[in-house]
Amino acid sequence: MIGAAIPYVIMLAAAVAATLRGSPYSAIEFLVLMGAWYTVRMYLTWGEEKPVNTEKDARRERILAGLVGAGMVFLPILTISLPIIDFASYITWPGQFVIGMLVGALGTYVFWCAHRDLGKNWSAHLEVREKHTLVTNGIYGRVRHPMYTAIFLLCLAQALILTNWIAGPAGLVFFTLLYVTRVGPEEAMMEDQFGDQWRSYAERTPRLIPSLGRV
Ligand code: SAH
Repeated sequence: MIGAAIPYVIMLAAAVAATLRGSPYSAIEFLVLMGAWYTVRMYLTWGEEKPVNTEKDARRERILAGLVGAGMVFLPILTISLPIIDFASYITWPGQFVIGMLVGALGTYVFWCAHRDLGKNWSAHLEVREKHTLVTNGIYGRVRHPMYTAIFLLCLAQALILTNWIAGPAGLVFFTLLYVTRVGPEEAMMEDQFGDQWRSYAERTPRLIPSLGRV
């Protein structure tokens, strides 16, 4: 319980630091977005987890997840709080922040839907849990990887809002690396577990971007 509150304290401290440094607006916009997706994850995954039955690529998964954490959380917080990589900052037009917030709001909404529909089948890594069920309804009826769609949108929002050539794109770079190495093994794992049920689901459902049908 207390552990889950620590990120809020860190985000608040970063907001104070940004205010003291005199450039708080985009920093606070970014921190609000981070607070939103963190709250969605905590709220919708709270409580007892189903035990894990099988785990795949554990070492690679943890290294890459660590890099994503560095790119989406650690580096942005550092950039917002301290002047360490201010040399890579740039000035932009205000519209970029507005677009960033809209993309971020969409990402948070899709993230919410994905966590809500995946429920207790969620794992941060490649895992099959006890009594794992294949989810094909809700947002999983539109795309097979809505949570990854959401994280791509959140990383894009980060790149737009954090006007720094290093901390801005860092989330996008590391998450792309995680995605390209994970999605194949994840689908193979689902196919092993659910067989034809997975194959027919994958045939009728796109990966990341909802199909517009015949439009
Ligand atoms: N790739 C999905 C899920 C991300 S969470 C998404 O982007 O929304 C990763 C875990 O979800 C994996 O370990 C796998 O066990 C589980 N998973 C992935 N697709 C699933 C599905 N359709 N139904 C149930 N579990 C799924």
